[in-house]
Amino acid sequence: MNKSNNAEEALSRIISIANEALGTTTSEKDNKSTPEEIGCSIKMLPVHLLEKAAETAVKVYPVNKPVLESTRELAMELTANPQKLTLLITKYWGPFPRKLTVSFMESTPADLKKRIIGHMNAWSKTACISFVETEGDGNVRISRGGGGYWSYLGTDILHVPTNMQTMNLQGFTMNTIDSEFYRVIRHETGHTLGFPHEHMRREIINRIDKEKAYEYFERTQGWDRATVDQQVLTPLNDSSIIGTPADQTSIMCYQLPSSITKDNQPILGGTDINESDYKFAAIVYPKLFSSTQVADYGKEAYQEAWTKDQDVSDTQIEEVIKSSLIK
Ligand SMILES: [Zn+2]
Repeated sequence: MNKSNNAEEALSRIISIANEALGTTTSEKDNKSTPEEIGCSIKMLPVHLLEKAAETAVKVYPVNKPVLESTRELAMELTANPQKLTLLITKYWGPFPRKLTVSFMESTPADLKKRIIGHMNAWSKTACISFVETEGDGNVRISRGGGGYWSYLGTDILHVPTNMQTMNLQGFTMNTIDSEFYRVIRHETGHTLGFPHEHMRREIINRIDKEKAYEYFERTQGWDRATVDQQVLTPLNDSSIIGTPADQTSIMCYQLPSSITKDNQPILGGTDINESDYKFAAIVYPKLFSSTQVADYGKEAYQEAWTKDQDVSDTQIEEVIKSSLIK
């Protein structure tokens, strides 16, 4: 046993003696994990809703469709590994101004509601989506109960039954330190906007205990080892699926709990929405148009150039698809 293990053991012994002295039982201690110990996990819809969720994404924004087609093709294989769908289905809200309502599952003080929604709206500095409080069931429903920090992705929130939360912010109160509001709420809101996790750099991945990571993601995400390798354990520059250089300090960087690191320190990820996060949000959720302008723009863009009876028939289209193939 090396020195640091001895030190860790001594420290954990001191903590348990202190807990005994304070009369804190183990279960109470477990319920009160410090924020830094909690990682984020993206929530997945039940398997039976995956295809429907893809259809919803198309209804919300038709450009999500090509992804739906590939999803269908892969449906058989993916039923066994549904987690892969999260990575394939686009759950984008579309580039038009949108207001999502927010409600709270537990009775929550007005100042805390205001503070949480304020941080959610940090994104609307550059993005055309904003969040407003509602008395009824919100589109986004927040619980502060146990279960850690998580959110469903983008348009998936529409499929979550209204008596359940779409976002979980375990233990948030007005006493939670301010930096956690920036780090956690802005990150989880990113998921609600449809942003997945960013990849990480090698130094961070080297801190992860692989076996613990496999177990953790199997338990929290249902991921197999290959998916964990691809999604978590592949550093930035080795990854083949990165299109644009990802920012290492992005608010959407993984936030991983201390339980899966070799040094027992959590991986905090980005601590606030950074400049490239804001730029990205501005591109995918542009503030170019007001909703009335969008309506007008739509009219002009989709003017009818011919009538229905002039449409190319399905048979004709299929014919071209077949005949244009090089044999
Ligand atoms: Zn996350």
